[in-house]
Amino acid sequence: MIIFRFMSDSIYSLRMHANRQGSHLSGCERLAVAQDLERLAAEMVGRALRHPRGRAEQIRLSVDLVPTEAIRHGRLLDLHTLHVDDYRQGRQAARQLLLGAGVQVLAADAAIAGIAQGAAVNGCSMRGAMLVDAVTGARLEADPSRGVRASRMDLTPAAEGELRRRLAPRGLDNPHVREALVLATKVLSAPQVLAELCWSDDPDYTAGYVATRDRGYVRFPHLKPLGDERGGRAFFVRGAGLDLDALSGFLEHSVLLIDEVGEIGGTSIWKEGPCAN
Ligand code: AMP
Repeated sequence: MIIFRFMSDSIYSLRMHANRQGSHLSGCERLAVAQDLERLAAEMVGRALRHPRGRAEQIRLSVDLVPTEAIRHGRLLDLHTLHVDDYRQGRQAARQLLLGAGVQVLAADAAIAGIAQGAAVNGCSMRGAMLVDAVTGARLEADPSRGVRASRMDLTPAAEGELRRRLAPRGLDNPHVREALVLATKVLSAPQVLAELCWSDDPDYTAGYVATRDRGYVRFPHLKPLGDERGGRAFFVRGAGLDLDALSGFLEHSVLLIDEVGEIGGTSIWKEGPCAN
């Protein structure tokens, strides 16, 4: 959380990446003023050392000053929960939402299968997301083990407080939901991205989501079986005429500070139905 003490405070991007046994273990991105960097860095190291998939063997921290004129402001996506009975139904529901957002069957199925199998070449989790052509299902990211990381995004203190107040009555005020909502908001702010699909690689956390511009962040309590260590993200993009370097640069380097919270809706029951294509 950024505590602005003076309007002239400089903002830094603080990023952590941890590995274990040669594979991605944990990552975290924040924007912070100088006074908060040491505390946040210590929290990130603690997180990597106490990860549910084991203790980090290598932890890298990066701190970069962000030029004030580079900061964009934005509004958080709306959040809504769709109840599903189990992960199979969750994946069916997620697929239906993706198709409704213009992702073709081939691409939706390839991404779901890819995350389920462990999206990196060695069957482990990737450090970043797959970039999936929404029509052909082809993987477009330059490095399929690393993927593309969305980075340099956060909430203002006022927006974070408001978000936590709205999530708490629904039992959703936890770092998984808050951080994923911020990440999905940044990803969907790229015009080339149609939708995002995610479920965690944390074996204790079975929930996941589909984010689209029309529906916002739709959360499913089950997208994988409990205990499964495989998880990942897919960003579905319009492949035709795509400037891959420009999109990767935008996701990794552009700075988004979210100062407005969207709607935090309740839960509805998923029903299988027709979709747009
Ligand atoms: P998590 O929700 O943190 O358990 O992350 C689940 C998966 O999403 C990871 O294994 C990565 O493949 C991917 N991921 C995590 N953080 C990011 C990010 N900042 N940008 C893109 N992909 C990410």
